[in-house]
Amino acid sequence: MKDDNVVWHSHEVTKQSRAQQKKQKPCILWFTGLSASGKSTVADALEQKLFEMGHHTYLLDGDNVRHGLNKDLGFSDRERVENIRRIGETAKLFTDAGLIVLSAFISPFRSDRQMVRSLVEKTEFVEIYMSTPLRVCENRDPKGLYKKARDGQIKNFTGIDSEYEVPVSPEITLNTDESDVNECVNNIIDFLKSNEIIKE
Ligand code: ADP
Repeated sequence: MKDDNVVWHSHEVTKQSRAQQKKQKPCILWFTGLSASGKSTVADALEQKLFEMGHHTYLLDGDNVRHGLNKDLGFSDRERVENIRRIGETAKLFTDAGLIVLSAFISPFRSDRQMVRSLVEKTEFVEIYMSTPLRVCENRDPKGLYKKARDGQIKNFTGIDSEYEVPVSPEITLNTDESDVNECVNNIIDFLKSNEIIKE
């Protein structure tokens, strides 16, 4: 519960000065899509490329966050909402620190993604929809989760017995059944350059 005596403190070193020091525009690259659609793989490869280019990044990954910050949360609709809210606030803090934040979470609900979008400035949220079809994701099944969900061993699994709400107007759409990892990464780099988030 928020205390009325807790007042926001403005500091002398600002978001803008931290960003200038890093010679980049901070932003959130928000990957969304079904399990096994390629979010982690592409985010990982993209972070490596940005890192090699001298950028300052941080990758928030679904499974990793659930080991720490969100380890008290399960997969009910209410807990998924809280999961994304905490991740959004964390991503906002890292943006304030001047970083390019990559996040790889299924984030199945439009309202949650919209909530995170509304936390930062308009140009700072880049929604990357991994449109890889369910059939392909289920065939990949790298962690055997789809099989468990089909067998009823996992409940509320997105795409099986929990809904995935397709983004209405994502900044970038990638289908990893049609494009390899390199093509996906280059596609995102092109977007970042043409929107002056990173330099040519
Ligand atoms: P998610 O983070 O969306 O759950 P992952 O990246 O963990 O997905 O898993 C995607 C799986 O698909 C990996 O096993 C990866 O090797 C495979 N894959 C095949 N082609 C691609 C591609 N073009 N892009 C990303 N992943 C791919």
